[in-house]
Amino acid sequence: MRKVINNTLRIFTISAVLVTTLLVSLTYYAQSGMIMRVVPGVIIILLAVIAAAFYISKRLTRNIMEPINSIDINNISEADIYDELKPFLERIANENEERARTEKIRREFTANVSHELKTPLTAISGYAQMMNNGMAKDGDIIEFSKKIEKESDRLLTLIDDIINLSNLDEIGGIEDAETVDLSNITEDAIRVIEKPAKERGIQIFYSKAPALIKGNPTLIGELVYNLLDNAVKYNKDDGKITVFVGENSNGVEFSVKDTGIGIPEEETERIFERFYRVDKSHSKKVGGTGLGLSIVKHVCACHNAKIRVKSKVGEGTTMYVTFPKNIEVKKSDPTV
Ligand code: ADP
Repeated sequence: MRKVINNTLRIFTISAVLVTTLLVSLTYYAQSGMIMRVVPGVIIILLAVIAAAFYISKRLTRNIMEPINSIDINNISEADIYDELKPFLERIANENEERARTEKIRREFTANVSHELKTPLTAISGYAQMMNNGMAKDGDIIEFSKKIEKESDRLLTLIDDIINLSNLDEIGGIEDAETVDLSNITEDAIRVIEKPAKERGIQIFYSKAPALIKGNPTLIGELVYNLLDNAVKYNKDDGKITVFVGENSNGVEFSVKDTGIGIPEEETERIFERFYRVDKSHSKKVGGTGLGLSIVKHVCACHNAKIRVKSKVGEGTTMYVTFPKNIEVKKSDPTV
């Protein structure tokens, strides 16, 4: 870098001086016809100018490079640097910050995954040991095996969600976007949640209009299913779920309204964080992993879709997802 700037300055200055001198000499020669008398003076000036060019370019290069070389790359905000370089340094500082944030999220995620996997496994191992050691009475066997089954299911759901999330991180974006009918996907997901909803007396109302979007049908299916599943899990018995699919002035909208427990206002941002649960024991009881809405947020980001939450504790929650009409599918961000 240093050499390039230095040499460029030298070549540029010398070329400028040579051309100027040549022009001046030729003009003088043409006018007076006394070329031999001006040649020594021209040569001296030329040499002096070349020496000055070397000296100036060296100083310039030093002035440019010294502040750059003295920058502490881990503490860019405190660097004493000339104005031209400040936007570039700001960019590096932002990237450093972003990298640190991503690292922190990944570290926390790994710690949480280990903890979440350990809990059901400890329970499974405990019940199995009791049965193995003959500590479980005959009447306990059925109950213990039911608990083992429940914890294993929980483990499998958790692993599925983790795989889904890391796939979203891995693929780095959607390559095979296709035209998708959101209403078909919604109907498929409603069919899946109909049974658990019915068991709790929850009614589902569905209104739809044509809703074509561009995207990955499997990921959009995940998004729709997760939101509908939450509307059942966090609903009250004999509650209602209202699903809407259609276009409005903002784009193609999918919304799910439930009459469930609701979410406190200060928590509505945090529920999209990995493993965040408003009420951990309630989520566990209904088979939650704390990853569903992180997947939803990730899928929204990939499809340039926006998600909005409206909720009132004790009254219910509505989740609105708006897909742009002519969407441009985006690269996925591993930090969401
Ligand atoms: P989980 O697997 O625990 O349901 P999610 O990521 O889907 O995880 O949701 C995170 C948390 O947000 C849930 O644990 C719950 O506390 C809250 N939540 C999500 N959807 C709803 C809803 N429709 N009504 C009330 N609370 C909800």
